Amino acid sequence: MEQRLQFELENLEKNNLLRTRNILASPQDVEVIYNNKHYLSFTSNDYLGLANHPLLKQTCKTAIDQFGIGSGGSQLLGGHGIAHHALAEELAEFLGYERVLLFANGYMANLGVLTTLCDKNTLILLDHDNHASLIDGARFSNAHFERYQHQNTSDLTKRIRQTKAQNKLICSDGVFSMSGEIAPVAELAKIATEHNAWLMLDDAHGIGVLGKNGKGTLELLGISSKQVPILIGTFGKAFGTYGAFVAASKSIIEYLLQFCRTYIYTTALPQLLAEATRTSLKIIQQEPWRRKQLALLINYLQTKAKQFSLNLAPSNTPIQTLTVGDVLQAKKLATNLQQAGIMVGLIRPPTVAKNSSRLRISLSANHTIKHLDILLQNLAQLIYAKI
Ligand SMILES: *Cc1c(COP(=O)(O)O)cnc(C)c1O
Repeated sequence: MEQRLQFELENLEKNNLLRTRNILASPQDVEVIYNNKHYLSFTSNDYLGLANHPLLKQTCKTAIDQFGIGSGGSQLLGGHGIAHHALAEELAEFLGYERVLLFANGYMANLGVLTTLCDKNTLILLDHDNHASLIDGARFSNAHFERYQHQNTSDLTKRIRQTKAQNKLICSDGVFSMSGEIAPVAELAKIATEHNAWLMLDDAHGIGVLGKNGKGTLELLGISSKQVPILIGTFGKAFGTYGAFVAASKSIIEYLLQFCRTYIYTTALPQLLAEATRTSLKIIQQEPWRRKQLALLINYLQTKAKQFSLNLAPSNTPIQTLTVGDVLQAKKLATNLQQAGIMVGLIRPPTVAKNSSRLRISLSANHTIKHLDILLQNLAQLIYAKI
């Protein structure tokens, strides 16, 4: 067995696909310390700049005195606290859903929802580029599943017309994590209604960031919660904390509470995290300047990238990508940027398709125009020097 594993690991290395970690020794922010060196960072999902916010830290300190550290048990066996309860109610109110259920993280939420709600008479239709946790949820369920072509509603319609499955669930990311594109939710909702299917949206990268009030992709596109019966959100991104939630009708949530194994058989989030997330939710509502700053940065980066003739994909979200194609080229570019003190995400297969390796530049409300200038100058220099 060891030999087989070793062989596969060596193969990864040969193909420039071996993943490595940098060791973070500072809070997550736009200026960070990795491997004992200072970097300007474009790698985190901390879009609103809350992961290291003084008010969140203060909330945690107070919550520790009130609640201690561990939650001590699963939600159904004593671990469900007043902070969890309040957070769930506040989220339901904010997003316009009847009820919200908290999960340990987004991976667990997606796995749980798909495996619990979809039986063997269900066909799950997934966008091809959905997050791995949605693909895995479909795989681990008893349902059949198909992946329709990315953002292609004709392909989706064709497949949904063909199926004889009794139940159908359409499932898409709200904002695609590897491209920053926004899903055509109005069209998905229309198809779902026409074919009597459920629609589930994973808005991990949208909530907090998109829409005037930060309610996410639905608010941005002017879509009511009625049209999207199941909404997933996570706290590890714009909220700057940790955890996740499902927003849905009373009966869907009650069903999950009774049957969802990734909800039932795991320890509840520490209450201090629920308290910190409540503070994030307040900041999301009270500080629209964070979204305005992001919009400004996105606009600046897109405009300047054109002037520098950089191959930046169009995106109105904080996820910006520079498509390189070849794995080795992408890796070289990321390594050279790192040597210049700049961290970006290096995205390679199997996360994205072969020959579509790319750099992912994640923007935060804590970035400044000056940060973007540094990034752009270095990128242009490296690309035109053909390193
Ligand atoms: C990050 C992410 C998840 C996973 O959430 P975690 O809380 O990090 O486990 C799920 N779906 C999407 C679209 C994501 O981007």
